[in-house]
Amino acid sequence: MRSWTAPRVPSLPGAGTPPVLHDTATGSLRSPRLVEGTASLYVCGITPYDATHLGHASTYLAFDTLVRAWTDAGIDVAYAQNTTDVDDPLLERAAATGVDWRELAASQTDLFRSDMEHLAVIPPTHYVAVTDVVTDVARAVTHLLESGAAYRVPTPDGAVDDVYFDVRAAERDTSWHLGLESRLDLDAMTRFSAERGGDPSRAGKRDPLDPLLWRGAREGEPSWDSPVGEGRPGWHIECTVIAAQTLPAPISVNGGGSDLVFPHHEMSAAHGIALTGHRYADVFAHTGMVAYSGEKMSKSLGNLVKVSELVSGGADPRAIRLAVAAHHYRSDWEWFDDDLAAADDRLRRWTTWARAAAVTPVGVAGDSEPAGDLPSALLTRVRAALADDLDTPSALDAVDQAVASGAPATRVDVDAVDALLGVDLRRAVDDRPDPDSMSPLTD
Ligand code: ZN
Repeated sequence: MRSWTAPRVPSLPGAGTPPVLHDTATGSLRSPRLVEGTASLYVCGITPYDATHLGHASTYLAFDTLVRAWTDAGIDVAYAQNTTDVDDPLLERAAATGVDWRELAASQTDLFRSDMEHLAVIPPTHYVAVTDVVTDVARAVTHLLESGAAYRVPTPDGAVDDVYFDVRAAERDTSWHLGLESRLDLDAMTRFSAERGGDPSRAGKRDPLDPLLWRGAREGEPSWDSPVGEGRPGWHIECTVIAAQTLPAPISVNGGGSDLVFPHHEMSAAHGIALTGHRYADVFAHTGMVAYSGEKMSKSLGNLVKVSELVSGGADPRAIRLAVAAHHYRSDWEWFDDDLAAADDRLRRWTTWARAAAVTPVGVAGDSEPAGDLPSALLTRVRAALADDLDTPSALDAVDQAVASGAPATRVDVDAVDALLGVDLRRAVDDRPDPDSMSPLTD
């Protein structure tokens, strides 16, 4: 599937240090393992039934910072992201609004692409819709049934079978065990399973935590004919299959919001080991939750601050990016309406400072850092901040201090802010791109 238009990323003198990241599975800072010199990243994508809110934006911006830091370190990056374009919440929204589920998914995926373009997020190498891999998922489920890692559970009326993953069989037969990724106890797992799309009380399951692999066809729901029977994929297996198809195993980093720690990433990892015999991911990295009006921003609560609405309301997308980057990706934080004004103020100070780079000739007396040749002091500081678990607040502080110092910006400084923080300072704040000139969004 088409992703979105890539932003221009300037190359920088020298090379950054590959970041260490906090790994949920070990609770420690680790340097993600590369496979044959390539860093691979799988970030769980949206379920396209509502526009990108700041909680999503903070996740995709955090992993965009990782991609930028890896690239700056001279590492090849393979990045895959899915879009869950068939799932219960999408079907429920489509039914409630009288819109065909395919049209809803297509229009909301388009809006997501446009939000990512506005925020200057580097697109994934592979952007994959679940509806494009249904047959592959069915094949994987068949394999799990044959190997004894999955079993069928009929609906109470016996009309259709659903297929579940057998967590106890996986614990017995593979190197995976419950809690390997999440480090949670059983009570917490059961609670999260019920809250986050699982069905611990479903009758007929061997273990309450066994996750759905394949949902048998129901009246009025989309379904596909397949070797497992007519139906559609479960949630966790879709990511496992897409990751296996697009990236080497193990994935260097499996990323997403902290609400995916359990069951989603735990079960994706379990499916991965059961299917391939390999560990699923080397590092599991999770972003904090964003609150608004005192509660976690969520589609179900409706307290959303949407990127598209901020932009159509006149916000400079670079200010949105700066407002998000002012928080460490792992922290939970709350959005306040005046955050945008503060970020806009910062953006204005930075763009005013950056203007000096255009008028300061390269290598003149007083410019001790010939642009294009040597890393500037600011570039070195920003690289160090990002290498330390993507510490964007410290990177922003470093730029603030350079701006406040009174010394003119160099081209390397301006390129560093652009390449590493995704904020192009060459454009003045009120010099907005014409929305009609943006590339048409088509599949
Ligand atoms: Zn996923």
